[in-house]
Amino acid sequence: MGRSIYFFGGGQADGDAQQKELLGGKGAGLAEMTRLGIPVPPGFTVTTEVCNAYYAAGRALPAGVEDEIRAAIGRLEPLLDARFGSAEAPLLVSVRSGARASMPGMMDTILNLGLNDEIVRGLAKRTGSERFALDAYRRFILTYADIVLGVPRDRFEEALGRARKQAAARLGVDATRLNAAELERKVPDSLLDPESLAALIQRQKDIVLGATGRPFPDDPHAQLWGAIRAVFDSWKNHRAQVYRKMHDIPEAWGTACNVQAMVFGNLGDDSGTGVAFTRDPSTGERRFYGEWLPNAQGEDVVAGVRTPHPLSRSGAGDGVDDARSLEAQMPEVYAELVEVQATLERHFRDMQDLEFTIQQKKLFLLQCRTGKRTGRAAVRIAVEMAKEGLISQREAILRVDPGSIDQLLHPSIDPSAPKKLLARGLPASPGAATGQVVFSADEAERRAGQGKAVILVRSETSPEDIHGMKAARGILTARGGMTSHAAVVARGMGKSCVAGCSAISVSQGQMAVTLYDDHGHPTDTITVKAGDLITLDGGTGTVYLGAVPTVPAALSGEFEELMVWADAVRRLRVRSNADTPHDARTARNFGAEGIGLCRTEHMFFDEERIQAMREMILADGEAGRRRALAKLLPFQRGDFVGVFREMAGLPVTIRLLDPPLHEFLPQDEAQLHQLSKAMGVPAQDLSRKNEELVEYNPMLGHRGCRLAITSPEIYEMQARAIVEAACEVAAAGIEVEPEIMIPLSMTRRELAITRALVEGVAEKVFAEKGRRVDVRFGTMIELPRAALVAGELAEEAEFFSFGTNDLTQTALGISRDDAGRFLGAYVEAGIFARDPFQSLDVAGVGELVEIGRDRGRAARPGLKLGVCGEHGGDPSSIAFFERAGLDYVSCSPFRVPVARLAAAQAALAAESARGPRATD
Ligand code: PEP
Ligand code: MG
Repeated sequence: MGRSIYFFGGGQADGDAQQKELLGGKGAGLAEMTRLGIPVPPGFTVTTEVCNAYYAAGRALPAGVEDEIRAAIGRLEPLLDARFGSAEAPLLVSVRSGARASMPGMMDTILNLGLNDEIVRGLAKRTGSERFALDAYRRFILTYADIVLGVPRDRFEEALGRARKQAAARLGVDATRLNAAELERKVPDSLLDPESLAALIQRQKDIVLGATGRPFPDDPHAQLWGAIRAVFDSWKNHRAQVYRKMHDIPEAWGTACNVQAMVFGNLGDDSGTGVAFTRDPSTGERRFYGEWLPNAQGEDVVAGVRTPHPLSRSGAGDGVDDARSLEAQMPEVYAELVEVQATLERHFRDMQDLEFTIQQKKLFLLQCRTGKRTGRAAVRIAVEMAKEGLISQREAILRVDPGSIDQLLHPSIDPSAPKKLLARGLPASPGAATGQVVFSADEAERRAGQGKAVILVRSETSPEDIHGMKAARGILTARGGMTSHAAVVARGMGKSCVAGCSAISVSQGQMAVTLYDDHGHPTDTITVKAGDLITLDGGTGTVYLGAVPTVPAALSGEFEELMVWADAVRRLRVRSNADTPHDARTARNFGAEGIGLCRTEHMFFDEERIQAMREMILADGEAGRRRALAKLLPFQRGDFVGVFREMAGLPVTIRLLDPPLHEFLPQDEAQLHQLSKAMGVPAQDLSRKNEELVEYNPMLGHRGCRLAITSPEIYEMQARAIVEAACEVAAAGIEVEPEIMIPLSMTRRELAITRALVEGVAEKVFAEKGRRVDVRFGTMIELPRAALVAGELAEEAEFFSFGTNDLTQTALGISRDDAGRFLGAYVEAGIFARDPFQSLDVAGVGELVEIGRDRGRAARPGLKLGVCGEHGGDPSSIAFFERAGLDYVSCSPFRVPVARLAAAQAALAAESARGPRATD
């Protein structure tokens, strides 16, 4: 292990922005800002290596670290003209976590550390405010007791309530009839007088003594060791673990710990604290954007307990000149902040998220990091920065997380739909969401588990709510700003969120909503209960009663531009899995370059068709089957005509029937009787047949091309429908490129038989129609044997499409349909990094793909290779398919832009692995 401590202060820093792995994002940012000459309170960072050593030693700080910390404190003192542990010139510090990737609110922070009964008097003298000093002290004890000593916050509620009552009596407020919330409103923290605070501090200490059997630690150094340990411990708390899992953050990274001199935003009205973004994190617009609270400490803004004011006069965006803005209140400080933010954005060449504190009109930056943003903002910022010359087009492509653009493609509220406006709040995270109201995270998780769409409604959210936010479709909060926990986390998750909706108040499992007229006067109050439906529009901050219809996403100009840049660098083609003309159109609108998989079985589920399908399956003998198939032919042909027309000029891969036949059979008695009537066959006979078709392992049973070996007439009908449709569309002057694909093959002979069958039908149709079209013949590679004998299969097949869903199922021997019951435990135990049905198991299934590729191409140079399993839309799997040199991926229509961007990023990664280009 190298050095444990990196100091920053007085214009110099041991570390810099490159050292995120060691110093965490916050520590690296503080070091870099200090180097840039930006006002940052001095301090030091204890490295992530120390955190990892702490865990390796069974939660013990490594030898020598304490001495290094004492030395660092020694360097800090002269810079501030103060001493840690001194009552004359007290130095207080904050102790904060800071991992490599930002994990907002997931880990712990302790402020005002270094106080005891004696030092607090010194602080009062030095700041000239006894009230302030005592308030800092009681907050410190509360947080320290909760985080370090394990005495939960709510144990102190009653003591705080008593202090409020005492203060109320002094203020002449009658508190006898007030509940806790009302009392807090009447006597907020700022009205607690020194006497009440002193008594509260004593009570808090008594509670700590009672709960832990030990007095509250008086020695500032002991406080510091405890806090650093607690920050390291918080790396493994429950909410941090949940967050890491959601964002794929490895546990092995550890967190750094930042110890920094305190500055106070709550020293009066010439002080304050706030959060800012160098561009709008919701829309990406280039405008300095943020919020602040006068006379407050940092946590007040993030916790969302008070709703903050905008930074700039026009910050609210509604044309109103806001007198509460920082620009109006402290114009010089605002001007300095504007300059600092511009410097930081230019320096880091990306949108920054800043935390600042103003202590008696002096500005301090407490944090600077790459700002989290919505998918929409990510696209706009990347494209605009490239145009401003701040970054290259290639960097712009790499800046946007393909997963995040998914949100852009989701529907929004139908502007023309009738709707009942309930309330307005802040547009914290875009997207429309409808669901049943729930009031707790646990309830959200429970109902979502039952398949219900839910909206989580809270006064404000805290990191404990993360599992409920994950389960909910959208989040609505009564309090908090655009940078509140709810807003930040929802944007990260790409969920719709309306925050700071002050017209609602949540208590006792109900939401009371005050309705207003156009002039802002309250007109009525209504009550919304758990289970009632509401709809959120996170893009405008509007809440509607009931379910409101939505319309498909409209893509912005910047999005199209980014896609053009991405298309110019990507090598992999992107097709879509689409079974209907409607899906084909959606896919094409999103940029699909063909259909990689049309699952023909999905065409059989319509009312009229399923009947004929069942007749076919249950028929006695070939003649009966052919009669039923003849009924299906026109339907299939019609569907294919529609799909070919939509995909004019592009390849369309149509897979012949794949699933086991029993999937189409009647599910209940009523359906059986209906079928019996239609077929004129006794229900008993049908029921017996039905039972005969039941299989023990249907996924490994009579399915795929095995169906055609026993009943060739099924594929004959399908081949005829495809070729007739192709001829019909070609006759209308539209270019068609049909590709017929055989599922689940494992031997050359299966392909030889089905190929002869398809070609025979095609020749007949060509003769009947008097025209020929090019029809390619290929197969899916879905079984390990198919990958191994790919050389033989390629003798018959002109293309392969890797069906990685089945290939994963068969290579791992894990049933696709049953995996849900235990795969979660596998991921939790670290056996798989991610669900192998979502993200390709590169080591195993990936090797089969490579074997199939090599053997197939060796037998047939130029063999076209694609992927049509779910992995075709997964960015990390796409990176593998690029490295593997496949020709295309195919994914669901809404994933097409995601795949285009991921393919471009994969191409750029492959290029930089080969060495730098002369031009970039
Ligand atoms: C596959 O197995 O990957 C595939 C695309 O086919 P299906 O999901 O229809 O089995
Ligand atoms: Mg399959």
